[in-house]
Amino acid sequence: MEVVRANMDDSKSCMSARVETAARRLPSGGARAPLWATVPDADWNDWRWQVRHSIRHLAELEGLLELTPDERAAVAALGRSSLPMAITPYYAGLIDPENPDCPVRRTLIPTTAEAHAAPGELRDPCGEDADTVVPGLVHRYPDRVLLLATGSCAVYCRYCTRSRMVGGAEGYSFQREQWRVAADYIARHPSIRDVLISGGDPLLLDDHHLDDLLGMLRAIPHLEIIRIGTKIPAVLPQRITPELTAVLRKYHPFFMSLHFIHPSELTPEVIEACGRLADAGIPLGSQTVLLKGVNDCPSVMKDLMHRLLVARVRPYYLYQCDPIVGTSHLRTPVQDGIRIIEALRGHTTGYAVPTYVIDAPGGGGKVPVSPNYVLGQMGEQLVVRNFANRVYEYPDGGEGDQKSASGA
Ligand SMILES: *Cc1c(COP(=O)(O)O)cnc(C)c1O
Repeated sequence: MEVVRANMDDSKSCMSARVETAARRLPSGGARAPLWATVPDADWNDWRWQVRHSIRHLAELEGLLELTPDERAAVAALGRSSLPMAITPYYAGLIDPENPDCPVRRTLIPTTAEAHAAPGELRDPCGEDADTVVPGLVHRYPDRVLLLATGSCAVYCRYCTRSRMVGGAEGYSFQREQWRVAADYIARHPSIRDVLISGGDPLLLDDHHLDDLLGMLRAIPHLEIIRIGTKIPAVLPQRITPELTAVLRKYHPFFMSLHFIHPSELTPEVIEACGRLADAGIPLGSQTVLLKGVNDCPSVMKDLMHRLLVARVRPYYLYQCDPIVGTSHLRTPVQDGIRIIEALRGHTTGYAVPTYVIDAPGGGGKVPVSPNYVLGQMGEQLVVRNFANRVYEYPDGGEGDQKSASGA
């Protein structure tokens, strides 16, 4: 019997003490930076005001915080071919202006490390372009498709898996006429029962356009569920208006996957926004990217998962960060992710444990990776271990099944 040694001893220790310290030092969520202290609440709470006043240039950023020389050089070097920078005034409140190691700051403000292409890094690491069947529609799995509805986001994550196509990148278009073509493709393929709308961020579209797109899709009789993937509830909770939820709830069964990376994101505003979506009957799942110096620590990840559940968001996926060109400073070894899952499973609510996946390069799709709990087989006994690393024998008496499986 081969016994796989369990790696439990260090599972609860923090991969990066810096992450924990940075997390503790964060300003309390939703605080306004002094730059916007006198903005009337009516403006501040208006998502369009937030988008119009987002920080996109070096001069504005310098009015917000003290940049390191490295950050300044990287922001100054942003050009037409780079992933742009954008930070909503609301989300800027989560940045520690004095701490360059602040987790949220690391994901938003470029550093010169982005200019470094590491071995194995790609522009399109998940091979989406090759599985694109009509512009903006990726058909990889037999029964579901990914519809890229827009190329804009409220904030640009430095680890963006679609950095090649968002923020006005050349060679990709997201015109409304494309939605019709995509809907026609789905209508011609009865095997497609699920569409995931992403981008860019679909919730940056106005209510009228979203209504239009969702209506087009809902008119397809064989389409069972519609989903939206978005980071807007975390970075622009003002967008989750009663008018928006009134549009979304017309299209049930309708689901949402919300991008969250750090416990500090669960501010009172965000919890309320998630509550509005949940009250509209929308099942909410989360998606989190594992990031070095941001959330690569079991206690930070557990805190995030717990806060998500309290906000009525069920952890769905933890993603290994895709090997995008210029992201090696934000990526961790897969083993770190496995240790984090190991520190969650059994140690906390089962609902708080996401599925950890690698999106396989070359279009392989999402591949789950997890700690190993099956230690081996001893005759009829399956040898397993539990979360506390105790070993148990399970009488694997599947004889009847084996007979029927072999056609006997
Ligand atoms: C992630 C993804 C989906 C949806 O996958 P689920 O596991 O069903 O959430 C569909 N298509 C593509 C191309 C994807 O990357």
